[in-house]
Amino acid sequence: MPTRQPRRAAGTCGDRFAVLDPATGEVFDEAPDQQPDELDAVVDRSHGAWRSWRADPAARTTALLAAADAVEAAGVDLAPLLTREQGKPLAESYAEVARTAARLRYFAELDPRPQPITDGRPVRSEVRWRPLGPVAAIVPWNFPLQLASAKFAPALAAGNTMVLKPSPFTPLATRLLGSVISAALPEDVLTVVTGREPLGARLASHPGMRHVTFTGSIPTGRAVAEGAAASLARVTLELGGNDAAILLEDVDVERIADRLFWAAFRNCGQVCMAVKRVYAPARLYSQVVEALAQRAKAAVVGPGIDPGSQLGPVNNAPQLARVERYTAQALADGARAVAGGHRLDRPGYFFAPTILAEVPPDSPVVTEEQFGPVLPVLPYRSLDEAIEAANDTDFGLGGSVWGTDLDRAEAVADRLECGTVWINHHAELSLAQPFAGIKESGVGVAGGPWGLYGNLRPFVVHRPEEARP
Ligand code: NAD
Repeated sequence: MPTRQPRRAAGTCGDRFAVLDPATGEVFDEAPDQQPDELDAVVDRSHGAWRSWRADPAARTTALLAAADAVEAAGVDLAPLLTREQGKPLAESYAEVARTAARLRYFAELDPRPQPITDGRPVRSEVRWRPLGPVAAIVPWNFPLQLASAKFAPALAAGNTMVLKPSPFTPLATRLLGSVISAALPEDVLTVVTGREPLGARLASHPGMRHVTFTGSIPTGRAVAEGAAASLARVTLELGGNDAAILLEDVDVERIADRLFWAAFRNCGQVCMAVKRVYAPARLYSQVVEALAQRAKAAVVGPGIDPGSQLGPVNNAPQLARVERYTAQALADGARAVAGGHRLDRPGYFFAPTILAEVPPDSPVVTEEQFGPVLPVLPYRSLDEAIEAANDTDFGLGGSVWGTDLDRAEAVADRLECGTVWINHHAELSLAQPFAGIKESGVGVAGGPWGLYGNLRPFVVHRPEEARP
């Protein structure tokens, strides 16, 4: 569900909004509250910059590689700021910065080559790839820099320009990132705009945008697609997930328990492709629940800025309320909190890492996306039953299968209805792979060469083999 936007802080002037530290719940800074009517001028400048940016691929590569170096060098400023506004442990913020630089490098060096078409006719046809124009990008608050880079790295490498809008919960590190990158690029190639709604809605429906690429929740994704339909701009949507992990009869529970736990709880469970439901064979059920509960109880929860913290706070108050609501509903439905089950009695948006056992399969914590540090574990009696339960959803982002016999695990993986399946791990992505949700989890493809082509259009030139009279 679209989250409420941060309230204006008391005492701020009208053109800025408050940014909170989720570890304290206190305002610690402000960001410009840009208004929708400012977008016309921004988009005009983006169009202007596009004319020269699209013309010289070699210059683009050089500039984007320089931008990657600049991002890396700015890590000491970017990472603490990201932790302050997002909440994640500092080491994870540094990893996010590193991933952003790596993605810039990866796409800077991808080269969309012309492709000849051979169909037996005496015609030499060729597909050449052309950029689309200014691209609108709208991203959420869970991985502000990394998800922004998944938008701007392929779009800019393809020769487009971009107007990027971060979530109002996490505008600051993205603004800083935008200025670091922009210093290495021609003016107006990448513009970061910050503000509360309806800024995103107006950006998505702006007639000057040729591609609207969005990452966020399913309801907002629908609204974005409707907005972009007005100008028939291309739309890419990376939306919510409710990934299932199926443990097989031959799984070595102790061996996989750490990996499974962190696949669900990293970034406080605020990961689109986190493990959000676990299906365990009835025979191993208690052992799996116990192994996960032990890890939940042992995880060190605290401000991301403290070096010992493994889990930070939930990012924002509406998200914390959502996690509390799903958990309370599950407990009312008869579930048992084997670990956690409540928020922590301290300032900030902290919630105890929670393992839920004996959850009714129709409880919302199982059927919807909780997007927090809460994991329901469900028993199954037959593998067919587990696969059916995993697929019985409108989500289709990722899934995983855990077991010792890899061939058997792969046969089960093949039956999961989603975009990516992992065996014996979850949520690890290579920059070179396609990333695409099915069903309501997404439209279009990000990642690897597919992500680049998602920002290009084919342009076909037909010419005869020989000059004709
Ligand atoms: P959200 O949909 O509430 O907001 C996402 C972005 O859209 C924010 O920048 C927000 O300000 C903006 N926005 C809000 N209303 C808008 C409107 N009417 N028009 C245009 N933009 C609007 O999502 P969130 O709570 O920030 O993020 C959590 C969601 O993102 C989860 O569902 C998660 O699964 C999903 N997500 C998906 C992926 C993926 O790659 N599939 C990755 C990360 C997060």
